[in-house]
Amino acid sequence: MMYTDSDPIIAIATAPGYSGLGIIRLSFGGAGAGGAMQLMNALFHSQLRPRYAVYVPFFDTTGVPLDRGIGLYFPAPHSYTGEHVVELQGHGGPVILHLVLQRCLDAGCDIGLRLAQPGEFTRRAFLNDKLDLAQAEAVADLIDARTEAAARSAGYSLEGAFSRDVHRLVSAVVDLRMLVEATIDFPDEEIDFWRAADAPGKLSNICDALATVQRNAKQGALLREGVSIVLAGQPNVGKSSLLNALAGAEVAIVTPIAGTTRDKVTHTIQIEGIPLHIIDTAGLRDTQDEVERLGIAQAWSEIKRAEIVLHLLDARNKISKEDYEIAQHFPVGVPVVRIFNKIDLAGIQPNVRDSVDGATREISLSARTSIGVDLLRAELLRIVGWQTCQESLYLARERHLRALNAARVHLTTATQHATCNLHALDLFAEELRLAQEQLNTITGEFTSSDLLGAIFNRFCIGK
Ligand code: GDP
Repeated sequence: MMYTDSDPIIAIATAPGYSGLGIIRLSFGGAGAGGAMQLMNALFHSQLRPRYAVYVPFFDTTGVPLDRGIGLYFPAPHSYTGEHVVELQGHGGPVILHLVLQRCLDAGCDIGLRLAQPGEFTRRAFLNDKLDLAQAEAVADLIDARTEAAARSAGYSLEGAFSRDVHRLVSAVVDLRMLVEATIDFPDEEIDFWRAADAPGKLSNICDALATVQRNAKQGALLREGVSIVLAGQPNVGKSSLLNALAGAEVAIVTPIAGTTRDKVTHTIQIEGIPLHIIDTAGLRDTQDEVERLGIAQAWSEIKRAEIVLHLLDARNKISKEDYEIAQHFPVGVPVVRIFNKIDLAGIQPNVRDSVDGATREISLSARTSIGVDLLRAELLRIVGWQTCQESLYLARERHLRALNAARVHLTTATQHATCNLHALDLFAEELRLAQEQLNTITGEFTSSDLLGAIFNRFCIGK
């Protein structure tokens, strides 16, 4: 049977396990108020007063209470999904929750009640205009946030800050388009139009505003995705010690992404809330263990995608043949920081400088005493382009950055039409239209159903 966006749906909304409370959520879709009433009659033997927390028994088919808890009824459109919603807050044991869930499914059988797909409640909220797409994504990002900074900026996006800025850009583009379209029909007045309406000036303001949004979004994307860093160097040069020193400085080890084999060799720490996924090549050794081998194979492929390489050397020794061999594995075009470790033994002061050929940065530090580790942290932040003390970061996704970038390309082309060729008004208009289309994909006004599927499938069930 095909699932539709109007089926009544149900899911346990709280995490699996044993807890004080467990929440089950129902959204009635096309079954509407009638469906909600039918279910409430069966389950509570009564109707809940809208938007009141009511303490009620959850009855089984024979009229015996399975559990007692709070029932909440949110009639459409004033609910999370915008549909009629009933929420049950009972006790949070897996068995009792599944009993109540099954009871609801039985009671809702004839209205077609089914289990919700991952993210389906939020998908409905989007389809019913409760949230736009960027906000819906922020819901998932808020739940998944691994650092405080990530959670704060996801909250900021959810509250609509990112969407508002994008809307502001869109309406500026629309205003300009209207001006242009009005002029296209009167070719003789084109020149007047450029002068009187100051189209190039307006366009350049839009480009400036877009650049600001792009900057904030890029920083936010850093908070979400983090940066992957390879820690390379010969055995005993101090890789593990450096990792500890970097992590210890913030005392916050971020929960590793569970279930991936890369956990074995990847450690995620944070600096100023930015997750740094550090691949410790000390873990890349020959092994008989099949699982570990898989992890190592994956680590090598991650090294190829690394964004920064930290190459550790012993400050007491000259750069050796082995060190050059290690460097050959580094991905091309990726910034390398050469770190001279153990300066406490070499009697050197901590410092940061450019290499003689100017190609890499060099830092002298001691992983054991942590002297100079601050220089490295500052250097890492500099490389990723992090600016401190920013208030308004949105937790942007790769998808948003791509759309902003594409919009920028269209606006740049429009600028060229405006400056080079006064007779290209229709081309100018077309580029504006394309830029607007790109911006609209962010908030979801112009979005394919494939994209919606890809976005919402990654949610957890019950959200
Ligand atoms: P790895 O094999 O590259 O991961 O190196 P380790 O971090 O395990 O360090 C190897 C040895 O060097 C250990 O005994 C560390 O205590 C020592 N070590 C690491 N960094 C320093 C440092 O900055 N100063 C001193 N004196 N010893 C260090």
